[in-house]
Amino acid sequence: MIPFNLPPVIGTEVNYLKQAINNNKLCGDGPFTKQVSHWFEYKFKAKKVLLTPSCTAALELAAILIDIKEGDEVIMPSYTFVSTSNAFVLRGAKIVFIDIDRNTMNIDASKIEAAITKNTKAIVPVHYAGVSCDMDTIMLLAKKYQLWVVEDAAQGVMSCYKNKALGTLGHIGCFSFHETKNYTSGGEGGAILINDSSLIERAEIIREKGTDRSQFLKGQVDKYTWKDIGSSFLPSELQAAFLFAQLESAQQINERRLNIWHQYHLAFFQLEKEGVLQRPYVPDESQHNAHMYYLKLKDIEQRSSFIAFLKNKGISSVFHYIPLHSSPAGKKFGDFHGDDTYTTIESEKLVRLPLYYSQTDDQVKQVIEAVKEFFI
Ligand SMILES: *Cc1c(COP(=O)(O)O)cnc(C)c1O
Repeated sequence: MIPFNLPPVIGTEVNYLKQAINNNKLCGDGPFTKQVSHWFEYKFKAKKVLLTPSCTAALELAAILIDIKEGDEVIMPSYTFVSTSNAFVLRGAKIVFIDIDRNTMNIDASKIEAAITKNTKAIVPVHYAGVSCDMDTIMLLAKKYQLWVVEDAAQGVMSCYKNKALGTLGHIGCFSFHETKNYTSGGEGGAILINDSSLIERAEIIREKGTDRSQFLKGQVDKYTWKDIGSSFLPSELQAAFLFAQLESAQQINERRLNIWHQYHLAFFQLEKEGVLQRPYVPDESQHNAHMYYLKLKDIEQRSSFIAFLKNKGISSVFHYIPLHSSPAGKKFGDFHGDDTYTTIESEKLVRLPLYYSQTDDQVKQVIEAVKEFFI
């Protein structure tokens, strides 16, 4: 059986977990958390990186940080994970869903401006499959209308847009270290990247239950107190220790994933040429991290038989994202702006193939052979 995903494990995690235990410091913001934050800040040229228990938590922290209130509107694609919108709905926002670009499955930046109203507060681009959104267009709109940009870069760790790391382009970026992502902090985890200096101090306060404890620990204030609303957005040191081991091997993990991605891409070139399927499209300005390999088939019926066919051969393939605007909560908390030209129809064609760090070349070949057999 070839699973759809296995969590990445490098082998050195257990040493760092032991070290964290020996440090007698297991709660948040210990030495491993600091090391991981610095790794990202240095490697991605990010102003401030704070670890969180998940990307969901990072998005929730972001929504508090930019003061989302009842009646505010937040623009995002409908083709995304529920947490992208939940975080803002929790603050009372109305979600304005925009159609996707059929090539990248990312928000169609050319359709954003028409959806902006006096209530619009933020744009949330989601870098689907680790392939960047059209960030130049989005940042220009943000400047013109004074909007916040919160990147959902859950899938984009180690990806770039014009050689800049995803997550560092908007005012705020959010990462995920869930076990289905490229790097994991032991199953669950995330980070918030604060790229606008004016937001850093308050981000630290919100993350520390609304207190100025982090300034206190740095010796900047002599006692700490309740300053603002907040919550507990700190992961444990064990999560940071686990992640640190993976970051030390980040290049190796990235290269292996890209290698698998390219094996698939090369193998399906001919089928795309014959017009029986579509392969993922990566724009020139995007350097991706091989977060996922998907195919787009004819329609939802063909996809169902494709998934069943692979399953029969012991290969697990999956689809995801019922567009949020067609879900019960999406209907309640959001509206689709303009026409749904591509979101529903393209999402129904998409199927994801197994792609994980420990996948062997032999397993990749088995998947390729099975896919080819389906189309004979
Ligand atoms: C995985 C994912 C999330 C949620 O990440 P968690 O760390 O599991 O909370 C949010 N948005 C997108 C686009 C994701 O793929």
